[in-house]
Amino acid sequence: MAATRDPGIIPRNNPAALSPSSLEDGTTDSATWPPPSRFLVVNGVEVRLKFCRTCKIHRAPRSYHCAVCDNCVGKFDQHCPWISQCVGLRNYRFYLLLMCSALAFYAFILKLDAANAEVFSYLVTALPETFALAALSFMAMCVLACLLASHAFLVAKNKTSHERYKGPYRSSPDPYDKGVVGNIKECLFDKLPPPRVDFRAAAEAEQNFGSSVQPSAGGDNDDGELNFGSSR
Ligand SMILES: [Zn+2]
Ligand SMILES: [Zn+2]
Repeated sequence: MAATRDPGIIPRNNPAALSPSSLEDGTTDSATWPPPSRFLVVNGVEVRLKFCRTCKIHRAPRSYHCAVCDNCVGKFDQHCPWISQCVGLRNYRFYLLLMCSALAFYAFILKLDAANAEVFSYLVTALPETFALAALSFMAMCVLACLLASHAFLVAKNKTSHERYKGPYRSSPDPYDKGVVGNIKECLFDKLPPPRVDFRAAAEAEQNFGSSVQPSAGGDNDDGELNFGSSR
């Protein structure tokens, strides 16, 4: 589910809503292009909304344009090459679940391999590849445990990996920090917002008309306007 679920892609702005002169790959000589950043006050902290030249929108707080997927993703955490998908607002908890499952899987393999010293020494003698499997499981367990510990810290602080790397709130309080319990609740248990891009409609239209069409934005967001959720 972490790989197949929409991570929270933000629909692009309707090109027709922009002036033709401003659509030349964002390299027009217009003095107003690209539009300047906007600022939004979230829980008393001023948050900068940068303009995305590709999507032609002012990015919602905590979103980022993924260069691999070529989309702006809400509450962007990272682009994970293992699942070939962005990790963001709508699939972060499933990504954590995937890591927990993988950790349990490798722990189970290691237990089967090395639980009994006599059996293990016999297996290593009779089947040397057993040792490689046990070593691989041990290394995978160490990596996954460190990764999970890191994400447990991020969940407790309500930060994304991207925010931790960039550190946008070093000089000001984190406007999204609700305390440990509130942060865990928001990251793992709060109801997820519906997808903002209707991929099924695009696929059906392509099937019906045999032509490629752009996915349409879901709901009332087809003008690219942003819903900033908890912003005040
Ligand atoms: Zn973008
Ligand atoms: Zn991505």
